[in-house]
Amino acid sequence: MVKDEYRMTVWPGQRVPVGRVLVVPVTVENSGSSETLGDAVSWRDVPDELYLRELMDLDLSDARAISAFTATYGVLGRMDWSLVPDPSSKRGGATDPSLIKLQRRLKREAQAWPAGERKRRMSKDAIVYHARLLRDCVRLLDARQNGGEAKLESSLRLEPAELFVPVVLNAGLTAYHVYVDLPDADLHVPYGPPRPNLYSALCLQMANHIAEAAVYRRCANESCGRLFVRQRGRAAGSRERRTEGVRFCSAGCARTQAAREYRRRKGAKGAQ
Ligand SMILES: [Zn+2]
Repeated sequence: MVKDEYRMTVWPGQRVPVGRVLVVPVTVENSGSSETLGDAVSWRDVPDELYLRELMDLDLSDARAISAFTATYGVLGRMDWSLVPDPSSKRGGATDPSLIKLQRRLKREAQAWPAGERKRRMSKDAIVYHARLLRDCVRLLDARQNGGEAKLESSLRLEPAELFVPVVLNAGLTAYHVYVDLPDADLHVPYGPPRPNLYSALCLQMANHIAEAAVYRRCANESCGRLFVRQRGRAAGSRERRTEGVRFCSAGCARTQAAREYRRRKGAKGAQ
């Protein structure tokens, strides 16, 4: 049950297209070792519900899984922490002593990075921090909609706790803004159009779900159980797929569970 006193709304009150994100080659640093992912700059589509599916599935204790995720979708977050709530600011009431410690350590470590390359480097621990914030937003939204307690994995705390989702998402959404250009005159406005990071794109995916009052469902395939809003793998490309009465996160999960139930019925008949 959603408590009316904490109903969330989104300005401008409708879905905003997520568009593509700029994926740049990035060097991911992890306790002294580093790995460069990607070799060209490209614009990529963000799969629907990425924040609800692949991000929730990601094993944050597995550095190789994080590298694979980063190589596929882009780097999650910015090393300058510009997309997360500032824990040392009293505005918004965010506190996170462990982020302050993490920022200090990473700043020290970054001094060893080659100058001029710092913008293309990201610490694995920073990616994990950004991932945890978004995953906690999902847990909080799921708990608000479907009941239960949200077990949070990030160390950010807000007072009151209901501020967590709006404060985290609003910090990430700052990358999206209205922009005016002069494309035909070859006189582009300095700094160019917004180039949202993957993290901001996932904040927008989540904000869009809040804007349409989407309900999180849990996949009824016993071996899946993932959260989803719309089924994947059916009527691909259509954003207006139905959400009512859908029990499975994908057509594959529907088939798997149907086969399982068929085997069970057959087994029960055979035992009679
Ligand atoms: Zn499923």
